[in-house]
Amino acid sequence: MSKKEIISALVDKYQDDVVCINDTVWGYAEAGMKEYKTAKFYEEFFVEKGFRVESGVADMPTAFVASWGEGHPIVGFLGEFDALPTLSQEAACAVKIPVVEGAYGHGCGHNSLGAGAAGAALAFRDYLEQNRMQGTVRFYGCPGEEYGSGKIYMARAGLYDDLDVCLTWHPGSENKVTTSSSLANISVMFEFHGVSAHAAGNPHLGRSALDACELMNVGVNYLREHIIPEARVHYAYKNAGGIAPNVVHDHAVIHYFIRAPKMSQAQEIYERVKDIAEGAAKMTGTTHEVHLKEAIYDYNPNRTLEKVMQEAFEEIGAPAFDEADFELARKFRATYTKGDLDSVQSGLVRNGYPADAIGPDEVLHTRVLPYVPIDRAMPGSTDVGDASYCAPTAQCSVATEALGTPGHSWQITAQSCSPLASKGAVVAAKVMALTAAMAIEQPELLEKAKAELVRTTGGKYVSAMPPEIMPNIE
Ligand SMILES: [Zn+2]
Repeated sequence: MSKKEIISALVDKYQDDVVCINDTVWGYAEAGMKEYKTAKFYEEFFVEKGFRVESGVADMPTAFVASWGEGHPIVGFLGEFDALPTLSQEAACAVKIPVVEGAYGHGCGHNSLGAGAAGAALAFRDYLEQNRMQGTVRFYGCPGEEYGSGKIYMARAGLYDDLDVCLTWHPGSENKVTTSSSLANISVMFEFHGVSAHAAGNPHLGRSALDACELMNVGVNYLREHIIPEARVHYAYKNAGGIAPNVVHDHAVIHYFIRAPKMSQAQEIYERVKDIAEGAAKMTGTTHEVHLKEAIYDYNPNRTLEKVMQEAFEEIGAPAFDEADFELARKFRATYTKGDLDSVQSGLVRNGYPADAIGPDEVLHTRVLPYVPIDRAMPGSTDVGDASYCAPTAQCSVATEALGTPGHSWQITAQSCSPLASKGAVVAAKVMALTAAMAIEQPELLEKAKAELVRTTGGKYVSAMPPEIMPNIE
């Protein structure tokens, strides 16, 4: 039997478990950092499968590490499992019907993400055992990808430091190895304190915190022309000081996201934004505090490791969807806008894939995209970034939904509990387990992957979160 056949057979043994996790966690649909039922379910599952489980790691009650074996090589599989607000939706149903109006739903497919990663960890464990090979398998239960960014605290606690290989995936509409980086993101709030006064009677006695926010924002808007064009600075008024025009507002809060291709670039802009806040406080006679909420590293692709994943993916192949799957996918596509459907082709072209790699009328992706090392950041951020600065990391996307499915949508919630997601999660488990099996048999490749990590990161990960800032589990 080839390695691919051995791994496939091992994952198939766990197919029922993967589907059970997928559907159970889908049903829990818990908010980021509050995945209590989900984490308990996973922890019991891994104990039953013979793993050691350390729960509540890195000061987060829903973060855990399940491990098996000892010594190097150490392979980690990252699992996410949080849901999104307002995206509750009936399973496999192409008409928008929430299970509970306004409730959370798995609109980013993280139920499948964790299920596939768990299947990979189990199969890879069996592979080591079968071949009497030394090594450690870890499944990382990573809470709050959407809210709270658990991995940044797990990285800060050093939990990924000794990994030789770190693997994960994300459910999507295409089969491909993810080669683009993502944007670093600093989330920070500026809170201004002034003095309230009658705005007509005693305005000279008042000091307006709202004015400070507005002046700060003017400053930041002027700053935008003088930062690298790839950077993004977004803002929201979290507290505009009240609704009464005749009161000088003594308290106001403005929230910024500062994104850039590299954390060092985001940090440089952050320093300038802090200077602007100080200037705004001086101009208005107010005081201010800076509340750093989150700082997420950019994703650092590891070309050495992702090429192995590409080879594994091509061997395993895309999910084998049947006619019923195509029928279901067609129903979902009927709910998408032209812009959603067109985004498949425009995305291919933008990222340097052959334009005809996916036809405009294809319903489900049934092949694996060729390897294209994309040399820029996708316009979003993920806390996989921090893990990718600690250990050589590779990730892929596996088709679990119709082509053209919009991100963070009720259509994703629906398809994440359907045969599409189950089949995709099983394929993801196979791709990751085979990548691990192929990688650990080549010590020189592991060395090369590590050398690439050192070269691209400077060799030392320093969390952008100061040690006194604790995870936001509220
Ligand atoms: Zn996601």
